[in-house]
Amino acid sequence: MESPTLAIIKNPQQADDALLLDFLREAPDPERDRALFEAADQVRRAHYGDAVYLRGLIEFTNYCKNNCYYCGIRAANANAKRYRLTPEQILACADEGYALGYRTFVLQGGEDPYFTDDRICEIVSALHEAHPDCAVTLSIGEKSRASYQAYFDAGARRYLLRHETADPAHYRMLHPESMSLENRKRCLSDLREIGYQVGSGFMIGSPYQTPAHLLCDIRFLQELDPHMIGVGPYLNHPETPFAGMPSGELHFGIRIVALLRLMFPKALIPATTAFGTLHPQGRELALKAGANVIMPNLSPTAVRPLYEIYENKICTGEESAQCRGCLERRIASAGYRAVTAVGDSLV
Ligand code: SAH
Repeated sequence: MESPTLAIIKNPQQADDALLLDFLREAPDPERDRALFEAADQVRRAHYGDAVYLRGLIEFTNYCKNNCYYCGIRAANANAKRYRLTPEQILACADEGYALGYRTFVLQGGEDPYFTDDRICEIVSALHEAHPDCAVTLSIGEKSRASYQAYFDAGARRYLLRHETADPAHYRMLHPESMSLENRKRCLSDLREIGYQVGSGFMIGSPYQTPAHLLCDIRFLQELDPHMIGVGPYLNHPETPFAGMPSGELHFGIRIVALLRLMFPKALIPATTAFGTLHPQGRELALKAGANVIMPNLSPTAVRPLYEIYENKICTGEESAQCRGCLERRIASAGYRAVTAVGDSLV
């Protein structure tokens, strides 16, 4: 029988459920995987060349009302030291990013009720006014359709909301009763309908995850057809109910990145910080397997260690300018070119 990996390389779009499950269960093999990563790299180069888009990430609050079992900034983590940036601080981060050449800003945070729709809209409009040539991305969780519409009207054009897992039973194992996959999906469809460029995705190797769950994730993404697909290994955080659960595996994660590139040739796929945290070369490996976006941290150095969604998160010590230089070198060392343009997806 042909190896599932080789069968997928030949015809990624037509892979049926059985083939994908075989792929997800296949033991790693250096030669086969080299072929997989090369095939993914070719597809990425055919559409995006050697460009790696940079998005400046501003983690503006680590307050959160939710209690996702995997996340270090969950409300019930009484040991998390909480912070919020002021609008002035957020704008200063963006100004610094602008001077470094970034043309996309991602505002990410916990679901912090202090940031009412009015406050978010004020920040988005101020950013938009200060830097009209930049794209403003939000990643602030589940909101009502009216809220999403208000942020859009204020100038936000992109939204990142990972579905986390598309299997309802698995979703229940990762989140408390107050949250539901149904609402998460409702949010994603509202965002699409309003006209946002949408990013979704999932953690790889999250507790209790099976190949069948991952298959479900892939099928859900095919339905949603998002502009960006963000994935990264699950990483343990000791101050959560999942304390001590094993983190995701690097190699398996990189295989998933390559699979996604083959199946979603035009999607934006970030080489996430979680990959870099799992392994010193994790982001470079993701780039070589088809990823084409990196999100350097623009948050003030003083608060960076506090946005601790998982343990030992990297890039918490450096200034933004240092991050910029470090990433540019890493991208070049992997054989690509850092690009600061707004960088819309081709989807
Ligand atoms: N509150 C926002 C932002 C969440 S943080 C939202 O709900 O969208 C961004 C992403 O980090 C999450 O979507 C999740 O996939 C990931 N994440 C959270 N905890 C993690 C962990 N322990 N390991 C790996 N990724 C994690």
